[in-house]
Amino acid sequence: MATYKIALIKGDGIGPEIIDEAVKVLDAVAACSGIEFNYTEALMGGIAYDVHGDPLPQETITTAMNSDAVLFGAIGGEKWDNLPREKRPESGLLRFRKELGVFANLRPAMVFDELINASSLKPEIIKGVDLMVVRELIGGIYFGEPKGRDENKGWNTMVYTRSEITRIAHVAFKSAMERDKRVCSIDKANVLDVSQLWREEVEEVAKEYPEVQLTHMYVDNAAMQLIRDPKQFDVMLTGNIFGDILSDEASMLSGSIGLLPSASVGNKVGVYEPIHGSAPDIAGQGIANPIATISSASMMLRYAFNEIEAADKIDCAIAQALKEGYRTKDISMFDAKEVCSTSEMGSIIANYTAKCKH
Ligand code: NAD
Repeated sequence: MATYKIALIKGDGIGPEIIDEAVKVLDAVAACSGIEFNYTEALMGGIAYDVHGDPLPQETITTAMNSDAVLFGAIGGEKWDNLPREKRPESGLLRFRKELGVFANLRPAMVFDELINASSLKPEIIKGVDLMVVRELIGGIYFGEPKGRDENKGWNTMVYTRSEITRIAHVAFKSAMERDKRVCSIDKANVLDVSQLWREEVEEVAKEYPEVQLTHMYVDNAAMQLIRDPKQFDVMLTGNIFGDILSDEASMLSGSIGLLPSASVGNKVGVYEPIHGSAPDIAGQGIANPIATISSASMMLRYAFNEIEAADKIDCAIAQALKEGYRTKDISMFDAKEVCSTSEMGSIIANYTAKCKH
């Protein structure tokens, strides 16, 4: 029996609620797929600061490094917003990604047919949307030096080296090879020197993938085109901050940020997490949508463990639950047969997972 070690980092806010549901579904798929999961919990974010005085304790890094994959909830909240920057949950997360060397963040955005009315866009614009944002995750303006602030000034620096651009571009082209063979590279080359280097290097990498069509687009135009005609995109290749913003925008094509998963990969251990944050406004109410996290668990099975059948079962179960009209509050206004709590939605998907044949 294949056994996988999973580090569970629940984090803050809705993090624990949504991770519990993903575990429920993983256990259901394990029971019917002849695989086994060993979970180890580790603290990170505000909770880790409260317990250890550090948002990213060393033992969390060690636990993650000794696992086959990390399933991550979300961190952050007002309670910790006024701490010095290096003590804030968000700093812990950035450091965690850097420590693990997960430089590529894959964020698929697809529209479930059952939720076609959940988007704020017209059905004919979004029906069939299926795009992948490949975002560079451990470089760019979130990490560049110098950075700082004094009383009257704040500054950050957007830096990319050729090798950082090369490695993320390869991820995007490889992803496109398994999809519709189109990469749209997003930059601001009309203004930023760093973007000119980005564009130059992406074109170099493209020569190794002659089957893939490469186009370039300025980020401001991309923000507009995502709303105007999202189906024009297959793989969107972006730097760190542009991808952060565009993938949140892309999430609304699907109707709720609570639906979309992500995978952060590039080194030995990958991190699988929903694209949303800790949603402090709804934490503890049992209304968070667990689908983004359950779907991230499915990405973990697919990318980290190569358990394709098991991943397909989870994806099928999510689609089935939506088809049957089960909705959490965030998507309850769209053809709901029944409005469910976080935990009910997890149980429904777990039950369908066991029944899905693939
Ligand atoms: P957020 O993604 O947490 O929430 C934005 C909005 O979406 C909120 O109204 C929230 O209720 C809703 N939402 C998010 N996830 C949902 C879900 N699963 N189901 C239903 N509704 C959902 O973003 P924010 O409010 O800007 O940030 C809150 C905190 O999360 C901040 O401290 C921020 O730094 C942190 N954050 C963490 C991560 C991460 O851990 N990866 C990512 C983004 C933000």
